[in-house]
Amino acid sequence: MKKNVSVVQRLRGIVFLALGVCLTAGCAASGREPVRYAGTAMGTVVSWQIYAAEENGAAEAVSEEICAAVGDLEAALSWRDDSSELAAVNRTAGDPGGAVLSPALKKILERCLDVSEASEGAFDVTIGQVVRLWDIDGWAAGEKSGEYQIPKERQIRELLEDAGYEKLSLSGNRLCLPQGMALDLGAVGKGAALDEILALLEENGQVSGAVVSLGGSVLTYGEKPDGSAWSVGIADPLDPDRMIGALSLDGQWCVSTSGDYERYVEVDGIRYHHLLDPATGYPADSGVRSVTVLAREGVLSDALSTACFVLGEERGLALVGQYDAEALFVDGEGKIVMTDGMARYFH
Ligand code: ADP
Ligand code: MG
Repeated sequence: MKKNVSVVQRLRGIVFLALGVCLTAGCAASGREPVRYAGTAMGTVVSWQIYAAEENGAAEAVSEEICAAVGDLEAALSWRDDSSELAAVNRTAGDPGGAVLSPALKKILERCLDVSEASEGAFDVTIGQVVRLWDIDGWAAGEKSGEYQIPKERQIRELLEDAGYEKLSLSGNRLCLPQGMALDLGAVGKGAALDEILALLEENGQVSGAVVSLGGSVLTYGEKPDGSAWSVGIADPLDPDRMIGALSLDGQWCVSTSGDYERYVEVDGIRYHHLLDPATGYPADSGVRSVTVLAREGVLSDALSTACFVLGEERGLALVGQYDAEALFVDGEGKIVMTDGMARYFH
């Protein structure tokens, strides 16, 4: 019997509401108008607006630097691309000599391991082989043809045996991966890019304000010329074309949303989404439909949003309580629960 299969990839989990109509790549700044950019990168829609105190080319220059940085990071962290740093690291699995990490990758991985420990493994970048087996992202992106096959439980179990962040050994900048393990940094790539972008904006010194949106991850920086807050909309996971509300933020927040509506395959009415529970190897089923996290760093907000999605509301709230971070959960009935800190920004 033919299965009823549909695949969905949403490119817009979160949007910033100030998005103007003129979002053209490289559109020049005039007066207090921002430099705006819109395009695609990291498998998603990216856009930004950058305001400089003076019209001296600083905003245009940093916009170009951001483009290059996002491209470089995408090239380094992709496991699909054999020439990426991550692919090279994964090829050393089982090699007792391990791999020497670049300072950037080491920093990302250390942050990931910290969240793995704090979340008791709900967030775990060592489940790369299981992620690949499901390949929900590949199917949702339309890269595959034919009929989606749900992985066999036995295959999932075998690959999970080789996963587990506590089996990694990181000493100095040398990382040893056990045989059969592969890292997947899909959950934190956009957050890592936001962290690099923040550094570029700070280094530039002439940017007065910026908002950068990389798919479901957004960075706010500095101030808007009119002094108003940056407004970041949160999609309704039950009806993603609508918003459940918005966050009014000052500068230097990273906002990440993880939801089951972004990338999924539906087989016979059952939704298989791309956020896996490392305890089972199956799409997480914690009752939560989306989680939005605010933190001061992109890798942290990204890792926490994925971890909270897997953990669900109660354990997720306890997790964010361990960090300088805020969270908002939406469940299957549309009920919204958030930390007190988040309530100051949400309306
Ligand atoms: P998106 O990429 O749509 O923003 P997330 O940031 O939440 O969504 O990351 C989802 C990606 O993270 C998956 O496509 C997969 O590569 C990876 N992933 C899935 N489950 C986990 C997990 N439990 N821990 C770490 N990474 C995960
Ligand atoms: Mg994420």
